[in-house]
Amino acid sequence: MVKVEIKYTKLFINNEWVDAVSKKTFPTINPQDESVIAQVAEGDKADVDLAVEAANKAFHRYSEWRTIDASQRGRLLLKLADVIVRDYKYLAELETLDCGKPVKQAEGEVLWSANIIRYYAGKADKILGNTIPADGEVLSFTMKEPVGVCGQILPWNYPIPMFVWKIAPALAAGCTVVVKPAEQTPLTALAMAALIKEVGFPPGVVNVIPGYGPTAGAALTHHARVDKIAFTGSTEVGRIIMKSAAVTNLKRVTLELGGKSPLVIFNDADVEKAAEIAHRAAFANAGQCCVAGTRTYVQSGIYEKFVAKAAEIAKKRSVGNPYENVQQGPQVDSDMFNKVMGYIEAGKKDGARCVAGGNRHGTVGYFIQPTVFADVKDDMKIAREEIFGPVQSILKFETFEEIVDRANDSNYGLGAGVVTNDITTAMSFAKLVRAGSVWINTYEHITPQTPFGGFKESGIGREMGEDGILQYLETKTVTMNLPKKPIL
Ligand code: NAD
Repeated sequence: MVKVEIKYTKLFINNEWVDAVSKKTFPTINPQDESVIAQVAEGDKADVDLAVEAANKAFHRYSEWRTIDASQRGRLLLKLADVIVRDYKYLAELETLDCGKPVKQAEGEVLWSANIIRYYAGKADKILGNTIPADGEVLSFTMKEPVGVCGQILPWNYPIPMFVWKIAPALAAGCTVVVKPAEQTPLTALAMAALIKEVGFPPGVVNVIPGYGPTAGAALTHHARVDKIAFTGSTEVGRIIMKSAAVTNLKRVTLELGGKSPLVIFNDADVEKAAEIAHRAAFANAGQCCVAGTRTYVQSGIYEKFVAKAAEIAKKRSVGNPYENVQQGPQVDSDMFNKVMGYIEAGKKDGARCVAGGNRHGTVGYFIQPTVFADVKDDMKIAREEIFGPVQSILKFETFEEIVDRANDSNYGLGAGVVTNDITTAMSFAKLVRAGSVWINTYEHITPQTPFGGFKESGIGREMGEDGILQYLETKTVTMNLPKKPIL
């Protein structure tokens, strides 16, 4: 077992490491062997109050953060990216310890996160308004201003990238933040906080409060001095957050929620390549991916050949110690393990054909065999609900019109994919599918420059790209009297 040093387990408020006011701690568990990694300070309302106060002070009109040159915000972000790259191996090992993803994958995610920070660093001094020719009596222009103090609530599936998706655009825009990492994976958010302090962000600009959702998370969403909540997680909690925002101060809300994304493979596709794309779409990150392509629709002409290939690839997928060269580690915790195993049982019970996996992998840790179900029907539970585990559902279709309707027959609308050599088919599908991201002959290719988010119950707002920073800006319109003739 790799030994990873745990340097930070306290709350991070005002650039200081502090115990929770209650002195309470909670354990974070290693999903590989179910052991306790560390006890972490458990933030609650009293701690959130302190962090929000620090973030408000840092956002005060004459504060250091509010009065520095915008390009200096960009330079601080660039420095942050540099120290992340310097420490990327350590950060990846810590990430693997806490959430179980293969360490090579974690390394890639850390370096990708540094690039996202660099992208937003470049935006910090390019936040522009417009001049607007109004009615001839006045001159109007707009100014883009930071939204203010932002509460940012993170999931456990991509702890470092999600931390960065949230803080980078917010800081580039000039906001201050209070981050609540997921209770399953608090460690890397704290390690990132240490780097934020090291590179010189002023106190209170970034605060990190580990803790549970209904306590620390709810304190943040109910806080009257938080101007915006950005959340990634389940649709169920997304609804709770919108309600809290509504009953307190109508804080701005952006939500990145669940999905049940369709990947549609047409008869003309190369079966081997299509099966590889579909495998990655379903199994990346052990299936713990909001945009996972879990509904694999295959046209009837290549259906049986595709099912055989999909099963073959899944059976070869290496599962095990995430510090070794494997493709898949454990699920994040016992709750998720049990939830996913429940879906596998439901698939079997509902009559889907299990052609690969279908069981626990090993006896210790939260490992699950890569599982493929064929002959799945649209009304089965595994075709309708988000599983968030290594389970692929394959469904058969005949025609283009039919598959557009079936692909769209979901409350979700996060991602979609299409595999075909026919450009008209691909573009027609991309146009008609109701999803925030559509991939053609690839899947889940997400870049810092491209907006990401959901239609329907998959979310509100976008992260990444230009859209991502706009969610952290308010528009102020200034109108000045400018008569046709001088008054004087
Ligand atoms: P969750 O939505 O319960 O938790 C996500 C975050 O929200 C965590 O930080 C949690 O502490 C916080 N939270 C929970 N309740 C809260 C509340 N009342 N107020 C404020 N914050 C609260 O997700 P989960 O329990 O970790 O996973 C459940 C399901 O969510 C998964 O099965 C999956 O379907 C989905 N999920 C989606 C994503 C995604 O990327 N969209 C990520 C993780 C989980």
